[in-house]
Amino acid sequence: MTQRFPIDVCQPDSQDALNRQIGWHEVPSPIKSQNDKAALKQVLATELKAQDAVLVAHYYTDPDIQDLALETGGCVGDSLEMARFGQEHKASTVLVAGVGFMAESAKILSPEKRVLAVHDQATCSLDLGCAPQDFKQFCAAHPDREVVVYANTSAAVKAQADWVVTSSIALDIVRHLHAQGKKIVWAPDRHLGAYIQKQTGADMLLWQGSCLVHDEFKADGLKALMNEHPHAQVLVHPESPAAVVALADVVGSTTQLLRAAVNHPADTFIVATDQGILHAMRQQAPGKTFLAAPTAGESATCKSCAYCPWMALNSLQALQQRLSEPGPGIQIEPALQQGARRSLQRMMDFAAAHQRTLRVGADLAQHSQQFLHVGAA
Ligand code: SF4
Repeated sequence: MTQRFPIDVCQPDSQDALNRQIGWHEVPSPIKSQNDKAALKQVLATELKAQDAVLVAHYYTDPDIQDLALETGGCVGDSLEMARFGQEHKASTVLVAGVGFMAESAKILSPEKRVLAVHDQATCSLDLGCAPQDFKQFCAAHPDREVVVYANTSAAVKAQADWVVTSSIALDIVRHLHAQGKKIVWAPDRHLGAYIQKQTGADMLLWQGSCLVHDEFKADGLKALMNEHPHAQVLVHPESPAAVVALADVVGSTTQLLRAAVNHPADTFIVATDQGILHAMRQQAPGKTFLAAPTAGESATCKSCAYCPWMALNSLQALQQRLSEPGPGIQIEPALQQGARRSLQRMMDFAAAHQRTLRVGADLAQHSQQFLHVGAA
């Protein structure tokens, strides 16, 4: 049986926290001159090299940041790919263009390296809505349950978990626990938790967090767009509401949706995730048409506002500022570092024992109404 806590129990003060933290006003104006932009990118590339730093960027960041990461030998990926790339790269500094939990994940996997976030204020509604102290109380009230958390959490929450899950392993681990008769506390995303619960039939108590971007996709608007484009494939991230997920041809992580866009023979796709992903889709699947899934009702002023305000803080200008004043970088208390690493390691050990791959992009999304895997943000 799936139970749900009232939102005011699971997310104390979350809306206030969101209102305080959303910082569109801090996003600088785009650099209009192509010459100025090219000159700044050259300066940044030189500085990255001088500081022995590698830039790892999330798919949701600004296209200029994504391009710079690739042009300078870094990577563009989802959160686990970013952390793993930083771990395996020889650079002594990892610069994370993403949000706070991604920088923490990079530090957890690379404790000996200096890990810098491009912008200190870049956070995430899932992380904000799952405060460690509140989560501690929640878990303490349900000591009979295994604690399984998604990657979009702070190190302090990961350290409280029995398991951190990502990619296709989420379903395998929950099925494994369910087969052992174990009940589960899941955090933080309620939509993703409900999706996994539906796929596995496990007894999951869901923390009521959500992504402020994916939570806004609307099934009615999506149906209307599908009617206009009856041959389009619908790609949906599982942090979206269930009514939107139910309309999808493909459900998957950012990497899985990108692979589906490249590999599926269709020429038109409707995409329900942060629109930053369209840059990589258009680069890797040139000639195909990508349409943003609607986020707003009929009375709203925009049809699709699916951009994360915190990802938008990762500008070229912010990167220049960070490189000019790098500071010591991400610091995680040793006990939290060890605890978070332990729950991550448990997932990796499970994968090795069950011969499952943890590489996020390896489990490609399938088409034709197959909801296969869930992945990192
Ligand atoms: S898009 Fe959503 S899940 Fe991703 S960082 Fe922004 S708020 Fe968090």
